[in-house]
Amino acid sequence: MTIQPFNPPRRTLMGPGPSDVHPQVLQALGKPTVGHLDPTFIAMMDEVKALLQYAFQTENAFTIAVSAPGSAGMETCFVNLMEPGDKVIVCRNGVFGERMRQNVERLGGEAVVVDDAWGTPVSVDKVADALNRHPDAKFLAFVHAETSTGALSDAKALCALAREHDVLSIVDAVTSLGGVELRVDEWGIDAIYSGSQKCLSCVPGLAPVSFSPRAVEKLKARQAPISSWFLDQSLVMGYWSGDGKRSYHHTAPVNSLYALHESLRLLQLEGLENAWARHRAMHDKLKAGLDKLGLGFVVEEAYRLPQLNAVYIPEGIDDGAVRSALLNRFNLEIGAGLGDLAGKAWRIGLMGYAAREENVTLCLAALEQVMNEARQ
Ligand SMILES: *Cc1c(COP(=O)(O)O)cnc(C)c1O
Repeated sequence: MTIQPFNPPRRTLMGPGPSDVHPQVLQALGKPTVGHLDPTFIAMMDEVKALLQYAFQTENAFTIAVSAPGSAGMETCFVNLMEPGDKVIVCRNGVFGERMRQNVERLGGEAVVVDDAWGTPVSVDKVADALNRHPDAKFLAFVHAETSTGALSDAKALCALAREHDVLSIVDAVTSLGGVELRVDEWGIDAIYSGSQKCLSCVPGLAPVSFSPRAVEKLKARQAPISSWFLDQSLVMGYWSGDGKRSYHHTAPVNSLYALHESLRLLQLEGLENAWARHRAMHDKLKAGLDKLGLGFVVEEAYRLPQLNAVYIPEGIDDGAVRSALLNRFNLEIGAGLGDLAGKAWRIGLMGYAAREENVTLCLAALEQVMNEARQ
């Protein structure tokens, strides 16, 4: 049997990620591989770090890209900062808050779960109450942009509460980074992680992470050993920050980092605030069209993420048939509902390079046609 080269179809990616990758980012990926301790590569890594600091709006010295997807960014925060027995306030208003809870419990911590309904933001009042009731809590963990529902939580208010109660905040910014306002230093965020394949529009497989000086202090002062060797940031720090004395920890995904460098460079060129405004403008266009098609949003207007539009599937429409028709006939991917919303909602992503007018037009026209046919 002769196996042919794999030729992926050219899709338009408007789901919950990965999002469309900018052509220049794909080109960067194909540049010649150099050694991961090559002086030219190390110089590029310094630029990646500076660009990540810009994207996160932070001066945190500890700002890196973990060589693994967003989930590893989540795990990096918990495994490095938490110690067995630590109490963590975990906010759960979708799939990813639940994953945070699982991280806490697997590491021998005690999760105090603050639940909010799917499709609603994390309640700042409930979190304040939980912090008052648990003065021994060490961390507050929440998801800024819940990709499973499309709800945006008030990271600024939540992190201010964390500071007030002297607990460290751990923030999931996988879907928010590059898509909506996010200011790590100004908001006093202690540990934050993201992913390369959502609003950064890079290839999947890298997780930007940043720790505040308070978080780094906590890491250095910890008593219990870090249970993961690969994610132990005290070992990785030597690789990312050793001035001229970088040592081998693991082989960096060299070409993926070229891609991240290019995607962050493009973000900086556009300007963060312009990128946030573009996501908002494309969301407004999409929303106007979805309204005409009679598709209602899962999330109330005030808390809607521009980059992740969850809409209810109308009565009598076959979820799977519509998504297959979009994929097979229009090369268009939109997301299925997750968890509580499985079979009930679609998730239309406008992330990074996918947040363009031509995508909005394609999505609305294709949806209209396919839904009309499904009704006949
Ligand atoms: C996608 C996503 C993750 C997980 O990222 P992976 O790269 O798929 O591991 C975590 N949190 C949120 C909010 C996400 O959207």
